[in-house]
Amino acid sequence: MTAELIRNTLGDRHCALSLVIPLYNEEQVFPQLRSRLVDALPTLPDKIEIIFVNDGSSDRTRELVEQAAAEDPRIIGIHFSRNFGHQQAVSAGMQASSGDAVAVLDGDLQDPPEVLAQFLARLNEGWDVVYAIREHRKENIFKRTCYGGFYRLLAMLTPIHIPLDSGDFGMVSRRVVDQLNAMPEQHRFIRGMRSYVGFRQTGLAYERDARAEGVSKYSWRKLMGLAADGIFTFSALPLRLASFAGFLIAGLAFLYAIYVIIWKLISGEGTEINGFAALAVGVFFLGGIQLICLGILGEYVGRIHNEVKRRPSYVVDEIDVQA
Ligand code: UDP
Ligand code: MG
Repeated sequence: MTAELIRNTLGDRHCALSLVIPLYNEEQVFPQLRSRLVDALPTLPDKIEIIFVNDGSSDRTRELVEQAAAEDPRIIGIHFSRNFGHQQAVSAGMQASSGDAVAVLDGDLQDPPEVLAQFLARLNEGWDVVYAIREHRKENIFKRTCYGGFYRLLAMLTPIHIPLDSGDFGMVSRRVVDQLNAMPEQHRFIRGMRSYVGFRQTGLAYERDARAEGVSKYSWRKLMGLAADGIFTFSALPLRLASFAGFLIAGLAFLYAIYVIIWKLISGEGTEINGFAALAVGVFFLGGIQLICLGILGEYVGRIHNEVKRRPSYVVDEIDVQA
């Protein structure tokens, strides 16, 4: 069951605002999340839907979402058949959404629901994308440095302007959601795809809270995967850098060869560096460069491989919605 099936199940709906919230093993924060959302609702349009996407949780998240959807007609639950990842969960929520505006926020209350009214005000002023800019992160210094470094590296590599220090938290207009939903790619880096769409985009600074309960559901492995998707789906520059490195090293080797020949002709002897050590360094250095280039190529080939298989990027087990 993929995007079309989700839409068929949900039928013809329309609301002013959809909230898309991915959840992976968030039983600890869920009660708090729900009450903070309910508290923020008076500042938001009445015609609202809250889409919780349960990304294959193995704790009680599923039961909690089912119960919430049974109690409140504004709540929709989408349950994946297993853990497919945050970006897939957000994509599924967007496919299911029927709002004129669609907001994406994390389920751990790091993205405060109280800010949504400000996003909506900006959208009503005519903006199509309002992305949240994280003023202060409450993560440890190592993680903060990694995040900061990544966004700056990405900015250097890609021709598309992806705002620094902004995640998926934000709100977009219907025409932007329609564009995002129409993008068929499996490797989804939503904050980048949102920039790619264009139209009128603006940032809004906010204070990023610490996670309300529980621990991060983004393992280092998942985080690295997301960072790699960001770089390799938004830039072909690494490939070009590989050819630059090739030209540079070949050029230097050529100059060195000329130097050796001239030296030989003038002095009749070999150069001072003709030992085994120099040779070994040269071989290992070049071997390393070649493996790195092969690795870079592999990142692209692996992604092409995944894209051509055309497998559904997520599988839905069940949808909770009141008739
Ligand atoms: N999440 C998800 N699938 C995953 C990992 C995370 O749906 O495989 C959700 C998670 O429940 C949360 C959001 O994505 O609502 C962001 O994850 P988290 O807060 O753990 O990441 P962090 O803020 O530590 O980067
Ligand atoms: Mg978080």
